[in-house]
Amino acid sequence: MIRIENLNKYYKSIHALKGVTLHVAEGELFAYLGPNGAGKTTTIRILNGLTTLSSGNAYLNGFNIETHKLQAKQQSGLVPQSANLDQELTVFENLDVHGRLFGMPAKKRVEKIHELLEYVDMADRKDSLTKHLSGGLKRRVMVARALVHSPKILFLDEPTVGLDANIRRRIWGLVKKIQQNGTTIFLTTHYIEEAEFLAQRVSFLDKGAIVAVDMPQNLMRRIGTWAIDRITDNQMETVYFKTREDANKYIGGQKESFTLRRVNLEDAFLSLTGKKVL
Ligand code: ATP
Repeated sequence: MIRIENLNKYYKSIHALKGVTLHVAEGELFAYLGPNGAGKTTTIRILNGLTTLSSGNAYLNGFNIETHKLQAKQQSGLVPQSANLDQELTVFENLDVHGRLFGMPAKKRVEKIHELLEYVDMADRKDSLTKHLSGGLKRRVMVARALVHSPKILFLDEPTVGLDANIRRRIWGLVKKIQQNGTTIFLTTHYIEEAEFLAQRVSFLDKGAIVAVDMPQNLMRRIGTWAIDRITDNQMETVYFKTREDANKYIGGQKESFTLRRVNLEDAFLSLTGKKVL
């Protein structure tokens, strides 16, 4: 559903994307994970026609984003990182403007908007001005807006950044529900647990290049199953083990205090890139 081939992007002397190649299957929930400045937003902006690529090719549902721009645009909906709703319009009006921009006939548009407002649990706020909504509610309106024209692909750029833990989980539930209804989801995030919880496959992006693409379990398995964190000389060190037995043997010889835990996706990212996802 999404095909990216050898994508490069330069902002003058900054080489922001360095030959990114990725394929995302229909119906998949794919997480594009990387630290600040890795190139996540640049990728999403290119795929949504908001900035040009420097070289390479990209296709949405088979449509080349450069040579078949309009058809490609029709395939996807975008929830950008920062809230960009029209503050002086109501929730309903924001969605209505979007539907009009995509040339939807009035009856179909209104039906779809009502259906989506129910879907994101915002029907009772349809006449509220969006400037009066909290961050979490705004995010739900943005998700609904991105779905008005029934796209096959939904791009979510850091959908839960700045939201509290409860609201974040609510958005996760909504994202899962959208995927279960058949939409392909491309999610950028620097919240590791978000990728681990939601995604079927994850890619690690570092300084504009992909360092790994796989299922979260496989990425974790590459380094082991158990991890021991210990403090030595005021530094935290983590050691990984294939089996609990190996970890126990190691614990037997320890003098310092330590924590035994299961390997998580952050361990995999750290060991592949040598840095934390901040
Ligand atoms: P974040 O998690 O902070 O949003 P990101 O992974 O989305 O980061 P990008 O915003 O895509 O990263 O930025 C990738 C690189 O390109 C960074 O070095 C950034 O400074 C640079 N960059 C992004 N947009 C521009 C621009 N319009 N002009 C110049 N440089 C840019």
